[in-house]
Amino acid sequence: MELKVARGLVVLVNLSGDTLLGNSYTQLDLVFFRSLLEFILNNNYSINSNDALNTPSTLSKLHIEYLLDKFVESDWLVKSGNDLCIGIRSIVELSSLLDDLVDHDLYKSHFDGLLVTEGFYCKHCNTAITHSQSIQYNPSSCPNLQCKKPWKPRKIGD
Ligand SMILES: [Zn+2]
Repeated sequence: MELKVARGLVVLVNLSGDTLLGNSYTQLDLVFFRSLLEFILNNNYSINSNDALNTPSTLSKLHIEYLLDKFVESDWLVKSGNDLCIGIRSIVELSSLLDDLVDHDLYKSHFDGLLVTEGFYCKHCNTAITHSQSIQYNPSSCPNLQCKKPWKPRKIGD
């Protein structure tokens, strides 16, 4: 385990890779989490809470409800209004899994190398930054020094 600071949050990172999400979940819970992540990644980085609850699974609705709360509490997922999005802990700790689950190219932040689920990318070189990095740095040109074109980015996420 290693403590990492990512986007202003301290995250405990499991580097062993042997136990996804630790030991407090069953194999069925993990299968459910994986299919949820896959849906979120390929659905503009969010899922409506009701849709998440109705994800096809052999788990009971009551157990899924419990799992969703637990995933949010432990930062695997994050709640945004009535939607669930990928939490910072998944972004930091499961980055290679996320790469495997996605059916399109992922944008990684120019500043921290982590997945960008809400932010902007340069249409010339695909350099990406998060929404909060955009506020923090307010770039007038592309932050990629190889590009440096005027910053007229496209949006990532909603
Ligand atoms: Zn660029």
